[in-house]
Order: sequence, then C-alpha cells, then structure tokens
Amino acid sequence: MAAYHRPSTIGAALELLAAPDRVALAGGTLLNADRAPSRLEAVDLQALGLNRIETVGGGVRIGAMATLGEMSESPAVPDRLRAVARAEAPSTLRTLATVGGLVARRRPDSLLLAALLAHRGRVALAGPDGENEEDLARVLGEGVPAGTLITAATIDPTGAVAVAATGRTPADVPIVAAYGRRADGAVAVALTGVAPVPVLADGSDPTAGLVPEGDFRGSAEYRLELARVLTRRVTEELAAAGDEGER
Ligand SMILES: Cc1cc2nc3c(=O)[nH]c(=O)nc-3n(C[C@H](O)[C@H](O)[C@H](O)COP(=O)(O)OP(=O)(O)OC[C@H]3O[C@@H](n4cnc5c(N)ncnc54)[C@H](O)[C@@H]3O)c2cc1C
Repeated sequence: MAAYHRPSTIGAALELLAAPDRVALAGGTLLNADRAPSRLEAVDLQALGLNRIETVGGGVRIGAMATLGEMSESPAVPDRLRAVARAEAPSTLRTLATVGGLVARRRPDSLLLAALLAHRGRVALAGPDGENEEDLARVLGEGVPAGTLITAATIDPTGAVAVAATGRTPADVPIVAAYGRRADGAVAVALTGVAPVPVLADGSDPTAGLVPEGDFRGSAEYRLELARVLTRRVTEELAAAGDEGER
C-alpha cells in the first residue's frame, strides 16, 4: 500500500474512498496478503465502530467489521449459523476476516454467505446519500455499488436449519453445499459451488438456470448433480423436523 488512512466517521471514509486508487481495508486477510507493489492507499475501517452484533427488532444486525470469529461466538447468532461461521475459515483468518469483507469478496464456495442468504440476508450500505438496505442476493449478484461502504448485514435468525455438503474431506471447503432454512412453513435453500456467487435455489427445481464452472474438484455436471442431491437432503431433513423443528 502506498499510504494509510484511518478515518473515524463513515462520512470521512466515504470522502477518502471517493478519490481514485483508494481501497477499503477491513480485516486485511485478502488485501494484506497481496505482496505485489501497489499504488493503492488503504482506508482502514477499524475506527468506525462497525463491529457490534446485536438484536434489532426481530433480526440480528452484524456490523461489517465484526469478525467471523466474533460471529461464531455471539449469543445473538443462532447456533447453526455460529457453527458455519466457525467452519468458514481457520482461527488465524477468523480473528481478522470481517463480515463486510466476506460480502464484498463474494466467494462462490462460501457456505457462510449461503447461510446469510437463507436467513433472508440484507446488506446496509452507506453512500453519499446516506444509508440504505439492499437484498444480499442483489449485492452478491451485482457487487458492492461504487462509492458505497458495507456497514452491516442483517438476518432473520428464526427457523429450523439443515446443512448438507460434499467436499474432498470433511474439513475441506465443500465443492457444493446446501444450507436450508424452514420458517413459517416455507423452505429456502441456498447453494454454493454452482454459480459465480452463492445463490438461492428453487426447491422444486434446484438447478434451474445454473451453469456452474467445472474445475479439478468437480465438473459442471457433477456439481449440478450434487446440487440436486444436497437440496433434496436438506429439504427432507427440514420436512422430517416439521413445525416443531422451527422452534
Ligand atoms: C489463505 C486464505 C484462505 C481463505 N479462505 C477463505 C475461506 O475458506 N472462505 C472465505 O469465505 N474466504 C476465505 N478467504 C478470503 C477472505 O479471508 C474472506 O473473504 C474475508 O472475509 C475477507 O475479509 P477481510 O475483512 O479480511 O477483507 P479485506 O482483505 O480487508 O478486504 C477484502 C475486500 O473487501 C473489501 N471490503 C472489505 N470490507 C468492506 C466494506 N465494509 N465495505 C466495502 N468493501 C469492503 C475491500 O475493499 C477488499 O476489496 C481466504 C483468504 C486467505 C488469504
């Protein structure tokens, strides 16, 4: 990085980021991992007070600077989601990597992002015109709008959850994974590994519209078959749990 800035208000951060060659620095697990010489200037978000995880109304608001480790330990976060946050990365990364960075990075194989989708994830974005909320699915599809900062992700913590995944080993990042959630009798399933970003699937036709890219871990056809099988597994598990499971 060519320079370092540490604003203490969101307005000051947005002003700094409006200039070219400046980039938001959160946990730095990706930005600081790049050892190539760079003209970029870092705008560090750590003094903005964005690391609270709190219950707001019926939802849970997770500040953009909350780390995956903090999320995995927060009593406000439902148990299964905490476990997914814990499994997302080893402790060396979990203590640094933030929820804002996770959303901005949009990794296709992130089970935590799929989980946030299934929990009706919304993203709070601060821009020159103030703060507004977008569906997480939209932010994942289109990317973080230019000139904005992620300030939080909000989820609905209620419902029963089922997770099914296939990886090369149980501890490996899954090739394809399904995170299912049943709330008020309706089931939502989000999939990883079958599109450029995690996606919400149509439960009755989980591979509709999906054109995954194959790689050494699994061809496109294999990934589509996994999507069908894993969606069926989580749907059946949620059906077997019934209404009781939602409590
Ligand atoms: C060895 C290694 C293994 C990894 N394994 C995994 C893995 O298994 N699963 C996984 O999901 N990720 C993994 N990652 C990627 C990374 O750790 C995560 O995506 C992480 O959540 C990034 O968060 P960060 O806070 O460190 O982001 P940073 O490195 O600080 O930033 C990453 C990007 O996000 C942008 N950004 C960050 N915060 C905001 C914000 N609030 N608003 C707007 N833009 C923002 C930055 O400008 C930058 O472009 C891995 C990374 C490494 C180096």
